[in-house]
Amino acid sequence: MTTYRRMTQIAFILLVFLMPVLNIFRYDTATKELIIFGQIWGLGLKQAFYADHSLRGAGHVALQFLLKAVLPWIAVLAVFPILGALTGRFFCGWFCPEGTLFELADYLTLKLTGRRSLFAKRPNDPDAPGGKKLIHVLVALLSLLVLPLLGGIALTGYLVAPKTIWSQIMNWNFTFGVKAGIIGVALYMLITSILVRHSLCKYICAAGLMQMLFGWASPVSLRVRMDPARADECTNCRGCEKACFMNVLPRMNKRDISCVNCGECIVACNRELGAGRGLFRYQAGEKPSPAAMEKQESGVPGKSCAAPAGPLHT
Ligand code: SF4
Ligand code: SF4
Repeated sequence: MTTYRRMTQIAFILLVFLMPVLNIFRYDTATKELIIFGQIWGLGLKQAFYADHSLRGAGHVALQFLLKAVLPWIAVLAVFPILGALTGRFFCGWFCPEGTLFELADYLTLKLTGRRSLFAKRPNDPDAPGGKKLIHVLVALLSLLVLPLLGGIALTGYLVAPKTIWSQIMNWNFTFGVKAGIIGVALYMLITSILVRHSLCKYICAAGLMQMLFGWASPVSLRVRMDPARADECTNCRGCEKACFMNVLPRMNKRDISCVNCGECIVACNRELGAGRGLFRYQAGEKPSPAAMEKQESGVPGKSCAAPAGPLHT
């Protein structure tokens, strides 16, 4: 599952990088044109319509504005609430480029210091086998230098034609807008990936907050749940907690708004109990598992997964 997740994360980063280059979506600040799938997106109004003060003219302008501006904008704004209501924070865990960057930063910090985050109040660090320190130092330095610059160039392409940016890079002669775009995004990426990381996902990101809110309220949103009927099979290895970079306690089976449905706790538990024997699974809503229902029907109460054997924290 982790491999598939890495593939979706990389594919989405490529999409974000390529959208302006392929003219799939960008706004050109020089020509003041919004380009969508190679076409200029406008209100479809000729200059003469603005001069037409009749009721018919005003009605046409209002209709075009509704169809070409208001409704598309509502559709864009609805994406994350709908995603949240159906899939919880699945987008955050499987696609978000920032989440991917923060996971890379976690990984390198863990390899270099033995801790996933230097500022976490409740460390739940996974084991970090030593060795290959030099390689990790080099990868970390390269990531610090290259990734923010690449991100800056790619995101500036949403506002300045990628061809223009490329020619400025080739000639090493930048306009203020391109310089400001690249440096601004690079600094943002550096600061968030070193200092803020998943706190940004929890408390600041608007897309994350919308998915969080609608996912929490929705009775059918996708969740990762532990099977309470099999809680007594838990070995208390804490693999699921250590795998969770969002600092969720998966065994509590609470509707935790920080969970990004990444499935790393599922992977960790399968590793501990054997493939397919893990206690976690994805499910829509909070209906009890087949095993729990079977136990209920036969009158055998399932154990509460909120109180697994042994201490939750050491
Ligand atoms: S609880 Fe599991 S699915 Fe949710 S964020 Fe943590 S590891 Fe990912
Ligand atoms: S639920 Fe699974 S991964 Fe988590 S402590 Fe129990 S056995 Fe380990």
